[in-house]
Amino acid sequence: FIVERDEVLKVVESEKVKFIRLQITDINGLLKNVEIPWDELKNSFEKGTMFDGSSIEGFVRIEESDMYLRPDPSTFAIYPWTDQGYKSARLICDVYNSNGTPFEGDPRYRLKLVLNKLKEKGFSAYVGPEPEFFLLPKDSQSNKPILKFLDNGGYFDLLPIDQGEETRKDIVLALEEMGINVEASHHEVAPSQHEIDFTYDEALKTADNIQTFKLVVKTIALLKGLHATFMPKPFFGENGSGMHTHLSLFKDGKNAFYDENKEFELSETLRYFVGGVLKHIKAITAIANPTINSYKRLVPGYEAPVNIAWSPSNRSALIRVPAARGKGTRIEVRSPDPTANPYLLLATLLAAGLEGIENNIEPPSPVISNIYHMTPEERDKVGIDHLPGNLKEAIEELKKDDLIKSVLGNHIFEKYIELKESEWKEFSINVTDWEINKYLWIM
Ligand code: GLU
Ligand code: MG
Ligand code: MG
Repeated sequence: FIVERDEVLKVVESEKVKFIRLQITDINGLLKNVEIPWDELKNSFEKGTMFDGSSIEGFVRIEESDMYLRPDPSTFAIYPWTDQGYKSARLICDVYNSNGTPFEGDPRYRLKLVLNKLKEKGFSAYVGPEPEFFLLPKDSQSNKPILKFLDNGGYFDLLPIDQGEETRKDIVLALEEMGINVEASHHEVAPSQHEIDFTYDEALKTADNIQTFKLVVKTIALLKGLHATFMPKPFFGENGSGMHTHLSLFKDGKNAFYDENKEFELSETLRYFVGGVLKHIKAITAIANPTINSYKRLVPGYEAPVNIAWSPSNRSALIRVPAARGKGTRIEVRSPDPTANPYLLLATLLAAGLEGIENNIEPPSPVISNIYHMTPEERDKVGIDHLPGNLKEAIEELKKDDLIKSVLGNHIFEKYIELKESEWKEFSINVTDWEINKYLWIM
């Protein structure tokens, strides 16, 4: 990997890259970019590239809107596709104020702050995500996606049932060319639904990778005449798209979640980490499941979690511990969906876990039986609580959580609540198709 500016500049020249896209992620988790011609890059490395922060969701107010993008040379990657025959590359950037200090509302900076705290305690965090998505056909006239399945495939299906296979292969190759190592890809449970898993990496790298992943999936689908969507629940009655998030901590080169002498071979560190995450998961849900639609996925019966519990084995739990031990010991948080801002998602999960470790937070006893098969009374008896039922509830939980507030910082905390409350309000006063179908004729 290229980490030095000079090396990047050399490759840009030798590969005849014509345009560089300077990328950042807004508060909604959407990738934004400004493009510079290749001969501006040296300047950008040295002085930063000025941009108007006021036009990007969640950034600054008009009167103080001059901000700087500082490209991170270690993120250099050439796009495997060409723009009208020109080669383009991207660099992920950090955002700075005009006075040279890091901008407190930059999601990537928020994650870096949490990673520094972990580092002070001797930990490095590794993360592996499992993003799912749907491939949809497009209307040839309007070029808009149509809410129809491309195939009737299910889990692990192949051609001719799986109509996304070719597109998926192109996506995998493009990801590999951009430096993301793919471990497996397959048709998912729902028709037209797919999953591509890439190798876990350090938390910051993985957050960057998630953004790259979404861009590559959407771009390749577009080139194939399709539309890729990470919307959590596009089809009522079918599985939604999640982004299971696998987390582990390493200390002194060893997996800190593994302890061969403890029950289930899981360390105290893992237990307390889980304790911290479960303590804060209601507030984290506002980040992990940030859209109105996210909550249509978090319902019983579709392999998505509803209850706040953990299990050393069981898939129905919010946090599962996959079977791997030793170096591969990790937890899988199953509630996040791919609309989450990956920087904020990892920042909040890791900070909650760290608080658990620092304060020895005991998680509830692990659940061994299938939670889906328990009655509400049985769940109450063992003290299993549930996730917020909608975005409004999640935002109320977020408002009450001081740790998560400090992880987001005042700027993002306030902007985020403002944004999400207006989203909720908009939804609440809208008249949906469901209401029309339900009431128009009979009432
Ligand atoms: N699509 C399921 C979800 O909404 C997850 C299926 C799985 O990979 O286990 O979380
Ligand atoms: Mg899956
Ligand atoms: Mg999984």
